[in-house]
Amino acid sequence: MIDTVFEGFRYHKPLPNFYKNENPQDPKREISEELLEDLLNLALKYDFTGISYSRLSDDLKREFDTDIDNVIIFKFLMGEDILKMPPSTEKGKLMDEEFQEYGFHVYEFADFLRQNGFQADIIHPLDDNLSLRAIALQSNDCAITRSNMCLFKDGLNNSFFMIHTSIDNLPVKEENDMLWVSDFCSTCWVCIDRCPENAFDENENFIRKACTAHREGCSECILKCPFYKRGYDKVKKRYKRMKARK
Ligand code: SF4
Ligand code: SF4
Repeated sequence: MIDTVFEGFRYHKPLPNFYKNENPQDPKREISEELLEDLLNLALKYDFTGISYSRLSDDLKREFDTDIDNVIIFKFLMGEDILKMPPSTEKGKLMDEEFQEYGFHVYEFADFLRQNGFQADIIHPLDDNLSLRAIALQSNDCAITRSNMCLFKDGLNNSFFMIHTSIDNLPVKEENDMLWVSDFCSTCWVCIDRCPENAFDENENFIRKACTAHREGCSECILKCPFYKRGYDKVKKRYKRMKARK
């Protein structure tokens, strides 16, 4: 359990300061494969599923008026027991607690990087002024589904925290091999059909304000989505078969 002093991440509140180390005065810019492996192992120790890396494009930096360049994404899977509960205040509370517990460990990851001579700062996970989704897309390691989920290959119930860093040589993927996902979504209406809140407009676009995922913990579109039920690889095989038949 997290320390009771940690009040957690909250909308419109500053990022809590739980770092144990300061950023170095003259941060290093190159990291070794071994150290990245150590960072991954540290994340795995706390049940994170993996790490992805993003480098922000100039366009994105201009759009969000930020000078962040390099980002490390720490991914975790939202617990299935909680996900499968019907929407309720209790479920929302459990989801928030789970989110805060994972987030608390991210300070240790930042401290690990700082101790090793790199600048490392957590990006506020509830920052309205910066699209974490847009940053995640720049990893070339995920796709946005029709239900507005950020799908990494580990699972649709993926969530994440981010650290921006001075490290320039992060192994960011050159190409995104998940772009087929939007084409697959265009053939599947499951999330639209099963949404209890009609959170999709007449053009089948997601309506954020109508979605109760954050307010009440609705997970219906995750639970019914083929990417959740079958997993990424099986859906990809099905997509390839569909394409071969055309
Ligand atoms: S339910 Fe279907 S359309 Fe909706 S996100 Fe999943 S695959 Fe895409
Ligand atoms: S989380 Fe629930 S309300 Fe939001 S889009 Fe999915 S099914 Fe609809």
